[in-house]
Order: sequence, then C-alpha cells, then structure tokens
Amino acid sequence: MQPPSILDWTFDELKQDLAERGWLKDAARLPEQIFRGIHQRGARELSGLVGVSTRKIARLTEAYTLAWPELLTVQASWDQSARYAFRLADGSIIESVLLPHHGKWTACVSSQAGCALACQFCATGQLGLKRNLTPGEIVAQVLLLGQHSGQRISDLVFMGMGEPLQNDRAVIKACTILSSAFGSQISPRRMVISTAGMVPAIRRYTETSHRMKLVFSLGAADPEKRQRLMPIQKTFGFEDFLSAIGDYAKSRGNKHVTLEYVAIRDVTLGQDDILAIKENLVGRFPFILNVIPMNPVANSGLEAPTWHEVKAWSEQLRPLGFPVKVRRSAGKDQVAGCGQLGTSLLLGAAGV
Ligand code: SAH
Repeated sequence: MQPPSILDWTFDELKQDLAERGWLKDAARLPEQIFRGIHQRGARELSGLVGVSTRKIARLTEAYTLAWPELLTVQASWDQSARYAFRLADGSIIESVLLPHHGKWTACVSSQAGCALACQFCATGQLGLKRNLTPGEIVAQVLLLGQHSGQRISDLVFMGMGEPLQNDRAVIKACTILSSAFGSQISPRRMVISTAGMVPAIRRYTETSHRMKLVFSLGAADPEKRQRLMPIQKTFGFEDFLSAIGDYAKSRGNKHVTLEYVAIRDVTLGQDDILAIKENLVGRFPFILNVIPMNPVANSGLEAPTWHEVKAWSEQLRPLGFPVKVRRSAGKDQVAGCGQLGTSLLLGAAGV
C-alpha cells in the first residue's frame, strides 16, 4: 500500500500521526518543521526539509509521501492571469487559474476531475464526472500556483472544474489546511465556494460555523429557463434552492449573498428575465447580482453576448434597488474564463 500523502493532512493530523509513532519525544518542533517546509518554504520532497536530521528524514520518507500532481502546461494571458493544467496520479487532468486583482492573487481551483452537473453553458459539464479530488489534490493546486508564479496567494475561489458541494468534505478540509498558521495562512473569509445549487449540502454547510463564503450560481432567474440551462434543478427545485440561500443568508448575519447570473445572448437578457428577477428574488433576502457575460463554449448551442449588450441590460436592473456587478472575465484569450475549463481536454479528446 502507498504510504499516506502529507498533503492530505491538517497540521493537527500530522502532529497526531507523528505522536502515535512516538517520533515527537525528542523532536517537539518536527510537525511545524514539516508543515512549514512543505506549505511555506516550497519543499517538494521530504528530503528537502531544512533543519531535520538525515536519520529523521529517512524515517519520514518510509512512512509518508507527497503526492504532487504533475504540472503539464501554463498558459499566461495578457492580463497576468494564467491557466495551469495538471495530471493527477490516476491520469485525470484538472485545471486551475491564477488571477490578479489589485495587487493580490486569487487561485481559482478545481474540486473534481470533470463535473456531473452538465450545465448547458459550461464546458466542464461536457466532460462528465471522472472523480472527486482529494484534499491534497486541492491544496497542491494552490501551493503549485504560488510556487510557480512566485506570488503569495491571498484568495481562493472554488470556480474551477467541478461542483465543490458534491465534494464538500474534501473542499472544507482543504480550506482548513490552507488556512493553517503553519501553512499558507489564507483567511477563510477570503475563500469562496461556488455552488450550482446542491441544496442538502448548502443546508449542511449553513449549520456549521465555517467562515468560508458560499456564493450561488443562479444562472437564470426564471425557473423554467434555469432548469433547461442547469439540469441539477430537476433534482433540487428552484424554490428549495432559494429557501436554502435565504437560510444561509440569515445564518450569516443577513449580509448580502452573491448570486451569479450568466448573461447569454437571446436567452437570459430579455425583459422577461428582468421581471423574473423582480418577482422571484427581490425582497427575499439581501443579494448582489454578479452578472457574468457568458464565455463562448463550443457545442453548447449558446452564444456569448457583447459587452455592450450586457451593460445595457444590466443598467435596466438599477431601479430594482440591489447592487449589480458585471464581471470582466479574466484570461479569456487563453480560454481560461469561467465555464471554459476543460476546453483543451475536449479538443484533445476530439484529436484536434
Ligand atoms: N460548480 C460550481 C463552480 C464552477 S462554475 C458552480 O456552478 O457554481 C463557476 C461560475 O462560472 C458559476 O457561477 C457559473 O455559473 C459560471 N459559468 C459557467 N460557465 C460559464 C460560461 N461559459 N461563461 C460564463 N460563466 C460561466
């Protein structure tokens, strides 16, 4: 059997395992040295740990591994964002995106290889689900993006491949690992988990006191339209989704929740869509509408709107009285925008 990978462990788990092996007796600082070495100093192998004796390193190497994904490609974009592709131990390929914003750096990471939800506007959905990622595979994306770019990553968003709330245990554990004082020290408040509407998992999360922020992929505000675009709604209905969002908002001090709206030409930019927002959302809970212009996705049967179309439509929402943000998707020239991850894999599969 493969020894366990330390990348999957929180600091406390590492410490406990070392204690159970009796390896802390003359080395109280060992857990810290290992954790800091990997998470802060960029050690890629246990043999690279600084300040640990050769004898101890030999023992550690027998007991543990570090299961790093293999970095396949990095495509940098004019706006400083960069798209990373990794191969995992079983051959699955995942992607992550590094995004600049006002001098800080956000890692947009994948939570699954592929995705089961098949949202019509999203390229990852065309791949189907291969499997959930482990906590270590999520953590490694952040560490490797930081190491490769030489930047400190301050923010984390689960908007890469996959539905994070179908893999909530691993996602939450990865967040815990990445917030460690001995590790990356990313504040949970600067971690965003985006969900397409896994209602039971939203409710489960609401019951916890975790401080990572949930944001909600509304897609469209009309229930029938939403169901066509996001088949997950057949399982978890529109009303239940909205009521779960409302309860989440209440549990977090009734602050604004973020709803992500996908602007699709001739589909979600009509007068009927404005009416649906007014009737179904306004007054239910405080929210910000984040309007994301759809990025082109091959074989989706959907068209990307122009910036002007999106702006003109969004302006008409102003009188409704909630904040509206129109997102400029980063990395579009590298096909690394929202919903475009997996595009290169699809092209690969088609032999292009
Ligand atoms: N499964 C999660 C996280 C991945 S998608 C979720 O659905 O929230 C992250 C965001 O990208 C979602 O808000 C989704 O609505 C948006 N998105 C997906 N495909 C897109 C596309 N082609 N153009 C613009 N945004 C897209």
